[in-house]
Amino acid sequence: MNYDRVAFIGLGLIASSMFWAMRRAGMGAHVTGYARSEQTRATAREIGLCDLVCDDLASAVREADLVVLCLPVGAMGTVMAEAAPYIKPGATITDVGSVKCAVVEAVASHVPPGVHFVPGHPLAGTEHSGPRAGFAELFDNRWCLLTPNGADDASVAQLSRYWQALGAKVEEMDPDHHDLVLAVTSHAPHLIAYTMVGVADDLHRVTNSEVINFSATGFRDFTRIAASDPTMWRDVFLTNKDATLEILGRFTEELFALQRAIRTGDGEMLHDYFTRTRAIRRGIIDAGQDTDAPDFGRQKS
Ligand code: NAP
Repeated sequence: MNYDRVAFIGLGLIASSMFWAMRRAGMGAHVTGYARSEQTRATAREIGLCDLVCDDLASAVREADLVVLCLPVGAMGTVMAEAAPYIKPGATITDVGSVKCAVVEAVASHVPPGVHFVPGHPLAGTEHSGPRAGFAELFDNRWCLLTPNGADDASVAQLSRYWQALGAKVEEMDPDHHDLVLAVTSHAPHLIAYTMVGVADDLHRVTNSEVINFSATGFRDFTRIAASDPTMWRDVFLTNKDATLEILGRFTEELFALQRAIRTGDGEMLHDYFTRTRAIRRGIIDAGQDTDAPDFGRQKS
């Protein structure tokens, strides 16, 4: 059986996608929503996001069987402390934050007795944000990682079924391991994209039509990633500091090795390296996590 009443706290890309995916799945749950700004609440009402958009946090969570924190990681502890007195016994609290250790640390101590806390992270997103950015297909065939950390088995199983109904595949992981894996697959690559676009900007050529017109797919993909929400990504780096710094340290070593191979003309090293990375790309496609179409299936312009 799934939840009768669900509350989304924060009404941006992830919450709105979850709501539309619930509707697509035909879930009959009553959904309340709360966002801190009047503007976001007004937009949510205008587009029919949630059955009821509340003007205060307490009203949104009071009856909920599932409370989903869809906020930047840095805001979760404060918001949870405010919501805690109104959450009913037996309810489950989860979140969708991109970092898990920091969320556990900030949220767990505020969880009232008799309430289950099962942190989560759907590995799906876009560079867009806000209540209009969501769409029902966002989680289809994507992983949602749960880091239950000792939470009650029945509430973990129920949350897992809920995510599967939204289209996701679910796996459990330790929060530490989650943060290391995500540092490799998401956090460090985002920082590298931010840096590359920053370098182009420093050269004062990014606004030059040559760079825009002739930007190869590599640079275009960097600019897309570097357009992601600044608040969300600031919080990711501040809260997943150790794992991100470890991966960036390794990245720098590899970069120096490649730099040296270029300088010394070591074509064999470069060829072997690129052969290895090409196999990783193949693995991602074979696992159904990306398209094999040239240029990621973009339409020819
Ligand atoms: P979003 O579209 O920017 O929406 C964020 C929501 O949080 C908005 O409703 C915003 O309220 C609210 N908010 C922001 N700062 C707040 C604060 N200090 N106090 C209270 N509310 C605040 O963000 P999102 O992309 O849905 O991301 C939400 C979470 O999902 C983040 O933890 C992120 O790490 C995680 N995540 C994101 C992605 C992705 O690709 N975007 C993927 C997976 C997981 P207002 O609109 O009223 O300002």
